[in-house]
Amino acid sequence: MENERKRWQGFRVPGFSVSLKAPVAILLVLFGMVPMILCTQILISSLRQSQTDSRMVEVQNQCQILSSKMTRTGYLRGEVRDGTMDSEIQAMADVYNGRIVVVNQDFRIVQDTFHIAERRFLVAEEVVRCFQGESSSRYNKERHYFAQTIPIYDNTPVKGIEGVLVITASTEEILSLMDAVEDKLLFLQLLVVLILMLASMVAVTVLLQPFKELQRKLNQVAAGALDTDISTDGYRETKEIARTVGSTISKLKEVDQSRQEFVSNVSHELKTPITSIRVLADSLMGMGEAPVELYREFMEDISDEIDRENKIIDDLLSLVKIDKSEAEINLSQVDIVVLVKQILKRLRPIANKRKVQLILESIRGVTADVDETKLSLAISNLVENAIKYNSPEGWVRVTVDADHKFFYVKVADSGIGIPEEEQDRIFERFYRVDKARSRQTGGSGLGLAITRRVILIHKGAIRLTSKEGEGSTFTVRIPLNYIA
Ligand code: ADP
Repeated sequence: MENERKRWQGFRVPGFSVSLKAPVAILLVLFGMVPMILCTQILISSLRQSQTDSRMVEVQNQCQILSSKMTRTGYLRGEVRDGTMDSEIQAMADVYNGRIVVVNQDFRIVQDTFHIAERRFLVAEEVVRCFQGESSSRYNKERHYFAQTIPIYDNTPVKGIEGVLVITASTEEILSLMDAVEDKLLFLQLLVVLILMLASMVAVTVLLQPFKELQRKLNQVAAGALDTDISTDGYRETKEIARTVGSTISKLKEVDQSRQEFVSNVSHELKTPITSIRVLADSLMGMGEAPVELYREFMEDISDEIDRENKIIDDLLSLVKIDKSEAEINLSQVDIVVLVKQILKRLRPIANKRKVQLILESIRGVTADVDETKLSLAISNLVENAIKYNSPEGWVRVTVDADHKFFYVKVADSGIGIPEEEQDRIFERFYRVDKARSRQTGGSGLGLAITRRVILIHKGAIRLTSKEGEGSTFTVRIPLNYIA
């Protein structure tokens, strides 16, 4: 058992537990990082798109101008071909890092800024469509270039299409610019992550301060300073923890105090008969030559005191046993009327001796799930008390009744009664209203404590109504079926 406990304690070494700081810090960093990375990615991709779009529009506009100029100068018909136009075309292709090809009505290339396809034919789909009046603009994402076709109109009043300008331009330059921006942003992101990590560590340390404070105080309590004030001004959570732990500590203190009281009560109770025996024995010894009758009388008193000591020890053992075996309730179907009849039969001689009449009133037959031995002890204590604290010629009436859920055993007597202010306390261990009378009747002061424990184990309840000088009624209520 000890080894087992050690094994479990060993399992809970601090290394296995995660500090609250880690998840909180990770969350803070994540909440900062994820939106930042997302925003950067969205920004970069939309910037890339808009740069490409604007480059395409710009090139298109420039080519329109070029095409209009060609129309005006009759470039394709070779009216004025002094090379100015060719240089302009070349300059524009260079500016946009692209290639411009001019195709005439016969699909023959009349100008190519790369000078590799002149006089060849270009019968591409886009060119054909452009001759039909449908200029096109297309972007190749994989190879990072765009291609556009622009019609070149003739300058006759009919305004037919006499050629097509085919422009292809690379967007590499834009993309590498964007890559450079992305690299810079990545570096910035790293910097921000570092700052975030540092900030989150500081924030977590500050945030967890009230918990640290509480932990420090709880450590003091654990070290034995049970009176340490553990209330904190931090968060509602820390306040609630402090309140719960505070009430647990108060309960522990109460338990500790009641344990101390119990031990001192037990010692006192056990010492009382021994003191009496000692006094009796000492007096006997001091008497010298005393008559035999006196010896006999003293020895009877000593024997009574020994009985009392025995009773206290037996009751104490019963109480401890009931407390210990609370989980080991030995249930069986018991006829409660039969059980009460047996108790009354056993106690009748004592009742007769005190001239107390015992009456059993069974309103209906009851069978219930109970621990027979324990319940018998509990009811015996009640009936015994009703006989002991009765007046001569008095009566004790035991009534057995039940409804659909519970059975009831009522023990009423015509005895001395219990003062109102004492009624709550008589179930405490060793509590007696009239110490002298209890001692005289051989009471241990534990009977009602035992009874209450037994009834609570059966998930039942006990109620007392009493009037001084008129009598008392103890009513026990227990579920017919045991509630686990
Ligand atoms: P004891 O061994 O002294 O009888 P109990 O725990 O059985 O101890 O009872 C506690 C005290 O309650 C008794 O000392 C007595 O003063 C009071 N008491 C119990 N039952 C009755 C009763 N039926 N009538 C009057 N007083 C009672």
